[in-house]
Amino acid sequence: MLHGFAGKILHVNLTTGQITVEEPSEEFYRTYWGGSAMGTYYLLKNTPPGADPLGPENTLSIMLSATTGVAISGQSRATATAKSPLSGLIGDSQAGGFWPAELKFAGLDGLVFTGKSPRPVYLWVHNGEAGNPPVAELRDASHLWSKITGEAERIIKQELGDEKIQVAQIGPGGEKLVRFAAIMNMSNRAHGRTGMGAVMGSKNLKAIAVRGHNRINVADKEAVTQLARLASTRLPDYPDMKGLQDLGTASVLNYQNSVGGLPTRNYTSGVFEQAENLSGERMADTILKENDTCYACAVRCKRVVETEYKGAQVEPFYGGPEYETLGTFGSYCGIGDMSAVALANQMCDQYGVDTITCGATIAFAMECFEKGVLTTQDTGGIELHFGNADAMLAMLGKIVRREGLGDLLANGSALAAKKIGRGAEDLVVAVKNQELPAHMPQVKRSLALVYAVNPFGADHQSSEHDPGYTAEASPISLERMAQIGLTAPQPDRVLNREKAKLALYTEWNYSFMDSADLCQFVYGPSWQLMGPVEMVELMRAVTGWEMTIADMQRIGERRLNLLRLFNAREGVGRERDTLPRRLFDEPLKGGPSDGVSIARDEFEAALNDYYELAGWDKATGMPTKSKLEELGLGWAA
Ligand code: SF4
Repeated sequence: MLHGFAGKILHVNLTTGQITVEEPSEEFYRTYWGGSAMGTYYLLKNTPPGADPLGPENTLSIMLSATTGVAISGQSRATATAKSPLSGLIGDSQAGGFWPAELKFAGLDGLVFTGKSPRPVYLWVHNGEAGNPPVAELRDASHLWSKITGEAERIIKQELGDEKIQVAQIGPGGEKLVRFAAIMNMSNRAHGRTGMGAVMGSKNLKAIAVRGHNRINVADKEAVTQLARLASTRLPDYPDMKGLQDLGTASVLNYQNSVGGLPTRNYTSGVFEQAENLSGERMADTILKENDTCYACAVRCKRVVETEYKGAQVEPFYGGPEYETLGTFGSYCGIGDMSAVALANQMCDQYGVDTITCGATIAFAMECFEKGVLTTQDTGGIELHFGNADAMLAMLGKIVRREGLGDLLANGSALAAKKIGRGAEDLVVAVKNQELPAHMPQVKRSLALVYAVNPFGADHQSSEHDPGYTAEASPISLERMAQIGLTAPQPDRVLNREKAKLALYTEWNYSFMDSADLCQFVYGPSWQLMGPVEMVELMRAVTGWEMTIADMQRIGERRLNLLRLFNAREGVGRERDTLPRRLFDEPLKGGPSDGVSIARDEFEAALNDYYELAGWDKATGMPTKSKLEELGLGWAA
């Protein structure tokens, strides 16, 4: 008997409308665990190489894990996986909230969508009462098409007659196939990265409404209760976690600026003179209304803000900006007005687009404008200068509606630059077409490797960052690093073989978390509430299966290889494992990181070390046949 898992995966063929339930074997769950490992398995099985990401051959999965819905902090997350319309490679994106737990309560471990519906539809999944099997039906969504998220959510709950229904959906951005469109739940939690909302839009799937009544059947209830209590009691004593609770993810903004690591004006500087205006402290003193949370999480790191910008209301319903959003719409664009950034955040939530790629793409367009690559003729009269908040908001409106220059920018900066020409490609700050997040590889050097090699492009939540592995890191962080094989801490700005180890071993750990759908604020190998030991204890307590830290790392390694394998099948390897030219050739300007850039030879040497440690072919950067067989992935080689 399975514990934790529901034992059922729903398959929906949107072309035919056929819905089936698969009951995978225990072996399947033990191998892939959940999240994007499971999603990529279905993608590799169903979608042929070379398929159009926005065509019916793409496979979109949303997967949970054994722990989803268990009454403990940091577990209510889901992973969306498909071929990405932004990169043409593997797409992978996590979101929290209450929707993931609700799907598990309805009796499912995940959803797999294939084909394309002939008309807009939404999926309604429920199970009536505890113990009942899930029931699913496709319903007409013509009346929801073109509605913003808050409106569509309200209508769905009203027509199904239950306020407790949870809704995951696309906004008009996904319908218009903005290549960085998000899948939203609660209208303010986003599967933001890699364009999973555009894939959903291409399938004419507007929403997934869920309501469940089961509770999770765990193997050792007492052990789970003890771990849940441990997480709550530790909270006041873990300074980074307390900061997260008090100030949200924006708690790090002032710190980033103080070390020269706050990307400013399209990544040309690491310091922003108006950083204080965007900080978590300033938010708490001004526009913060309350904290919000994900199902059963004691941390409550989500911000809810209320403000207005030049007469436009920013409503609490749409939550509030995270650190990344404050960075991309703020310092990246040279804008120090928190209300303007909060309005941009709300527009992204309403239209369903990724705040990181959207803000970073506008910053790219601003630099094009400053350098005369774009003019008011291109922008439709918008003076797209750095620091112009009205212009930023106007361009955002054009992007989400695909109007004028916005139609081009809706493809992300890398694809837009190819069309713009005139040197625009030199100003792109993206890897595998995905814009860099607000953690700078110049000052946290292992991120140079991680951003370059990550199969779905630059990502800040795929590994532990350098400060957790310095001589000055906390004893608990160094103890946890040692548990996963990292025993020689290094300075932040060094990139060497030990940093390649930091990148890879913590990627495996984060990769496990993306398989188990764990929140990387609550769990992790450094400053988080629960380290590798507690993660393994939780998995044992929920599933009843034996697990060691080495087993956990191996599951993470398997997922990473699966993702990489998808790219290899598309013919992509080492040549795309690189950084934007700017990071090598243009030293940062001003502040503590003035003059800092990444040396190409240092980067290439660390890349070779990384491939060697990963068991991948150095010349191609692809997993070797023997590595795949060792991981039980011989079927996919
Ligand atoms: S720490 Fe924040 S993001 Fe993570 S589960 Fe808790 S409330 Fe959600």
